[in-house]
Amino acid sequence: MTYDTNNIFARILRGEIPCKKVYEDDLVLAFHDIAPHAPVHILVIPKGAYINQADFGTRASADEIAALYRAVANIATDLGLHETGFRTIANTGLNGGQEVPHFHVHILGGGALGPMLS
Ligand code: 5GP
Repeated sequence: MTYDTNNIFARILRGEIPCKKVYEDDLVLAFHDIAPHAPVHILVIPKGAYINQADFGTRASADEIAALYRAVANIATDLGLHETGFRTIANTGLNGGQEVPHFHVHILGGGALGPMLS
């Protein structure tokens, strides 16, 4: 599987599609999900071209991996979610229900989320 350079998140990274930015550094961009599934729903993405979590985990540098997960923690802390609780999800591939083929971590919070598996 090759990386689709025209996927929606690649276009957001290139500035071709707007987003409501929450955080950005050299390696990471985070923005609000366009169709939130919780009162707070943020997407955290690496700037590198990685298809999914398996691709990111095997090919990304230690700096990229650290930056991504540091951003997840810092965003949750900055939004006060670490006090009330939150959930992270990284859908991967067809069976994982991944729609956008650029690796992303969902941060969901701001209210009770209910059981994840039912
Ligand atoms: P996935 O199902 O791939 O894990 O999640 C993709 C997420 O991207 C969905 O929650 C969807 O609402 C969000 N999304 C799709 N298109 C856009 C867009 O153009 N802008 C933003 N901000 N989010 C999007």
